[in-house]
Amino acid sequence: MNTQNIKQPFIDIFPGDFSRNNRQRNTPKVLFSTIDPAGFTNPELIIFNDELSAEIGIGKFEEKDLNFLVGTDLPENIKAYATAYAGHQFGNWAGQLGDGRAILAGEITNDSGRKTEIQWKGAGATPYSRHADGRAVLRSSLREYLMSEAMYYLGVPTTRALSLSLTGENVVRDMMYNGNPQEEKGAVVVRTAESFLRFGHYELMSAQREYKTLQELVDFTIENYFTEISPEGPQKYKDFFENVSKRTADLMVEWFRVGFVHGVMNTDNMSILGLTIDYGPFSMLDEYDLNFTPNTTDLPGRRYAFGKQGQISQWNLWQLANALHPLIQDEKFLEDTLNKYGDYFWKQHDQMLCRKFGFDKLLEGDEEFFTNWQGLMQELQLDYTLFFTQIEKFDMETDLSKQFENISYIFLNNDDLGKITDFIKSYHTRLKKNNISETESVALMKITNPKFTLRNYLLYECIEEINSGKTEKLNILLNALQNPYEEIYSELSVKRPSKYNDISGSSTLSCSS
Ligand code: AMP
Ligand code: MG
Repeated sequence: MNTQNIKQPFIDIFPGDFSRNNRQRNTPKVLFSTIDPAGFTNPELIIFNDELSAEIGIGKFEEKDLNFLVGTDLPENIKAYATAYAGHQFGNWAGQLGDGRAILAGEITNDSGRKTEIQWKGAGATPYSRHADGRAVLRSSLREYLMSEAMYYLGVPTTRALSLSLTGENVVRDMMYNGNPQEEKGAVVVRTAESFLRFGHYELMSAQREYKTLQELVDFTIENYFTEISPEGPQKYKDFFENVSKRTADLMVEWFRVGFVHGVMNTDNMSILGLTIDYGPFSMLDEYDLNFTPNTTDLPGRRYAFGKQGQISQWNLWQLANALHPLIQDEKFLEDTLNKYGDYFWKQHDQMLCRKFGFDKLLEGDEEFFTNWQGLMQELQLDYTLFFTQIEKFDMETDLSKQFENISYIFLNNDDLGKITDFIKSYHTRLKKNNISETESVALMKITNPKFTLRNYLLYECIEEINSGKTEKLNILLNALQNPYEEIYSELSVKRPSKYNDISGSSTLSCSS
């Protein structure tokens, strides 16, 4: 790997703390602190992403690169750094947070000039670790590696994963916060993104009234990642806010399309570029349930439940609007933009549902059709992914119960089957109003509805296997997630087996990672 080509424009431009002291503290007025990763003497590679490494221009992996992948013995050109950000967590202002277990190496440029940031997750404590150890365990690291790659292949904007390595060190974690701490294997994921900037970075500078740095940060963001923005002056910042809002709404619609629940949509976990970032207690949907949250910490209020993600992203954008206000100074504009957000989101959302059903465009009456569909899904506990696979090949001549028994998480009685028949009839009536052929309609469904999604129970099984030293499931999952619109392994495209209904780490997860 050509790590000598990694550059660090962020620390060349912005105010930082260069003390290399990782003692936990507030670091006012700066956007980062340089630090030394913990260093691990006995690392072991589990996965390296050759395709991604070629794409971003970091080159081929050789045995000697293993140290770099866990942040040990860094080359001269890399002054590792952790960034400072703030955020609203579960609806409350949390003040300074920052990269507590993420450390940045810098940025690599490929042959076509595309820049990619490289970051270790789990490589040691930083000034922002807030009484935690800066380490990550294999369980959560494997989940992040596989899910971020799965999202990429689903076509959802996301950070990506370059490698997963064991550190050779054990870490103590109380997985369900129930006074039952255990030793687990420590691991480091190297992850990549065009940028890891979050809403929280802008919130931090604004809250500290560091408006000059705030402006420089927004200018930097626009110049590098929002090249479509051309005006100067306050209009530039208005365009920026509108663009971030649009990207955020588009991302939420994509999460709804594939059935992804993030689990911790705090503003520090909101990417300014509209990427899925910080994979923690996330889950793909099994049964369709708007109230579903995988995050045990969020169970009381279900603030970040599946169906609330559109609304919550708008709330998060309000916080960003407040942070950017000193640059924009136009309350009416900010309010109007936020109000328009809901309309834009729902329009995109409904158009996405149209594609899932194979409709070429939204017609009058479709909203009601979608509401009925949601009611049916929710009431009969139908599997989100499998439902769309099934309606594509649905056959009125074959016994309904046979076609739907493997899709529902409850027993379907005659009454239920009657409701399904009525729905399918209304669906077929609606399909006749299409302006595209049946072939085109099916083709639209095939590219919109994944056949394979990385369900939590599959991740759970894979982690169990890896812990006992086997990698067969891992390789199967890697292959399946790279081809989500095909059914390569029919045994993986089935509903969650009932034995996983109540296993922590499978159906529910905590933030402990
Ligand atoms: P999250 O909810 O995972 O986004 O984390 C919220 C904050 O806690 C972030 O600033 C993280 O960097 C920090 N954090 C979480 N886990 C750890 C850990 N094991 N060590 C250090 N900081 C952590
Ligand atoms: Mg986070």
